[in-house]
Amino acid sequence: MPQRRPGFLRSGLIPGLALLAALSFMPSGLVAQDRPIIVIDPGHGGSEAGVVVGDLVEKDLVLRLAFTTAAEFIREGYDVRLTRTGDYEVPMADRRSHAEGAGASLLIMLHMIQSDDPTRHGAEIYYYEDEPASALAARIFGDTLEEDGVFVVLEPRSWAPLASPTVPTVMIEAGFLTHPVEQRFLQSEAYHRDLARVFVRASERVLENR
Ligand SMILES: [Zn+2]
Repeated sequence: MPQRRPGFLRSGLIPGLALLAALSFMPSGLVAQDRPIIVIDPGHGGSEAGVVVGDLVEKDLVLRLAFTTAAEFIREGYDVRLTRTGDYEVPMADRRSHAEGAGASLLIMLHMIQSDDPTRHGAEIYYYEDEPASALAARIFGDTLEEDGVFVVLEPRSWAPLASPTVPTVMIEAGFLTHPVEQRFLQSEAYHRDLARVFVRASERVLENR
């Protein structure tokens, strides 16, 4: 039987409410079909915890970050879909087909990372190296995060789960759970909001460059 993590519901409630608040402030001038669709994919879920560092569990933190990010996109008038809204497993292929089926303009996969070296920090952005649209999106996300003071490394890969012929895809490792300072940021709702705003700004630039 899956164990419910004690802190999760308490911390999960706030992004949930933010999402509802954002929905009720949706700009009324935008017609549904004019709004770009952004799919946000919180990594892992269920028995796949992702990175675990002490009490910090990647699948929970990225779900909170995804809720905050979704709220920010909705506030800016985007149509947002999440591939996962709770603690359960989602097959890798379903995450991508979800985005393709929705006709998404962008798929943003959210993760957090670890290292044996506790001084490593910053974001890493993975993308499918043979897809120019995904490569451009990754560069724009990297530049926009760096404008916000985040150290970024771009990681081109020939890894099938990142490949989508129709939906530009970026996998963002938002930071290192093993860095003593960054791990505090990665738990912070305020930092999640900062990242969410950067993701929205980067997405706007990606859509302008299509
Ligand atoms: Zn991960």
